[in-house]
Amino acid sequence: MNIKFYNTLSRQKEIFKPIKSGEVSIYTCGPTVYSRSHIGNFRTFLFEDILKRVLLAVGYRVKHVMNITDVDDKTINKANNENKTLAEITSKYTAEFMEDVATLKILPADELPVATDHIQEMISMISALIKKGNAYSTDDGSVFFSIESYKDYGKLAHLNLKGLKQTDRVAADEYTKDHPQDFALWKAWKEEDGDVSWNSPWGKGRPGWHMECSAMSTKYLGNHLDIHCGGVDNIFPHHENEIAQSCAALDSEFVNIWMHSEHLIMTDEKMSKSLGNIKTIPELLADGHSAESLRFALISSHYRSKLAFSNNKLDEAKKSVHRINELYQKLTEIADSGKSLPDEYDLFIEILADDLNTPKALGVLFNYVRDLNRKIDNVQLSKKEAAMGLFFLNKADEILSILKKQDDIPEIIAQLVEKRETARKEKNWQLSDDLREEIKEKGWIVEDLHDGTKCYPL
Ligand code: AMP
Ligand code: ZN
Repeated sequence: MNIKFYNTLSRQKEIFKPIKSGEVSIYTCGPTVYSRSHIGNFRTFLFEDILKRVLLAVGYRVKHVMNITDVDDKTINKANNENKTLAEITSKYTAEFMEDVATLKILPADELPVATDHIQEMISMISALIKKGNAYSTDDGSVFFSIESYKDYGKLAHLNLKGLKQTDRVAADEYTKDHPQDFALWKAWKEEDGDVSWNSPWGKGRPGWHMECSAMSTKYLGNHLDIHCGGVDNIFPHHENEIAQSCAALDSEFVNIWMHSEHLIMTDEKMSKSLGNIKTIPELLADGHSAESLRFALISSHYRSKLAFSNNKLDEAKKSVHRINELYQKLTEIADSGKSLPDEYDLFIEILADDLNTPKALGVLFNYVRDLNRKIDNVQLSKKEAAMGLFFLNKADEILSILKKQDDIPEIIAQLVEKRETARKEKNWQLSDDLREEIKEKGWIVEDLHDGTKCYPL
């Protein structure tokens, strides 16, 4: 089967061919750990999770590296504002990020390198760039990349640099593509950096953000990798600068396919920490949404379209998650142990292999769900068909991860179910009913069967 991905570099869909047969290397820009990641960030991390799961489903081995940005302008600012050390800030938000990754059932990366553990690698790369004439140091002990020195500069963001006179340079990590300038590889120590600094051939300082990803991606995946991802805001300057640094320093090709997820937006604006219009995973869980509904809401639109966040979207997601889980439960009661797949499964995978078209794939799955429900209502579903359906739902869930299996029942629900069991044994029917209601309010259904109870999501 041909797999096709849209490559930001060529602005078209391309047939995917891994560099090493049977194996795919993926680098994804991870969180900047200066505050809790919001669901906008998780839209991008979930797009990357779907990408990885689709590649695994079609039989590739995947080597995935995601960095943690634990030193940059934002993390240092935050530490200063809160009068804390950089490590105090970054360890807190890294732990919270990992907690949210687990909640959303995102497959963790094989390697999660942190920037502060790779300063020497960055210094080596910067030294190589100076040697090759692609970078220069300034009087204060900073080092800048000369964009004029790299002829392909601008190829990812499609900038036209002809006629642009290079007169300025930029020290900040973030700036817009209206002002492409020489950018900082190494930033000389300033008072506001406090005790955040490392020694280098240019004096005390710290790396620029873009350099971090060039050093870490190539250290763990080699100079030439298959896929590099991020959100669209990473295209410029971050990924443009990564290409310039890596290709110039290593005299190598760097990345074959660049994939970028569009933004999650909130009332017409990008959801972002700086605009303050954010929602986090714990906030949404506290509002009564399940991890599966959040996952569903964030993957149900195509990754290259903007996704408007709304309560309506979350309610729709909750209904869909319920519908599929309800069918799953019914099928477990009917199915025999058959292990064949319906044709719809091939279609489902083919659609996902076409640039991860999740909305279309979900359409195929939910049509199938509707057909099966109709047969169940008419008592027409055979054990064999039920087994096929069950197998399809399980296989589809290896990518979607929206089924709540018995062993996913949260501890608090399991305790309530046990308490209710005791109440029933003691024939305390009132307490048993109250507990059933409490469990329902928390999003789970408990059902009494002749040989015990069953608990599944609402
Ligand atoms: P950060 O923690 O700011 O470094 O961002 C982590 C990832 O989230 C990056 O790949 C960003 O491009 C991505 N991102 C940031 N805001 C959004 C958003 N509103 N929607 C989708 N992705 C986003
Ligand atoms: Zn990055």
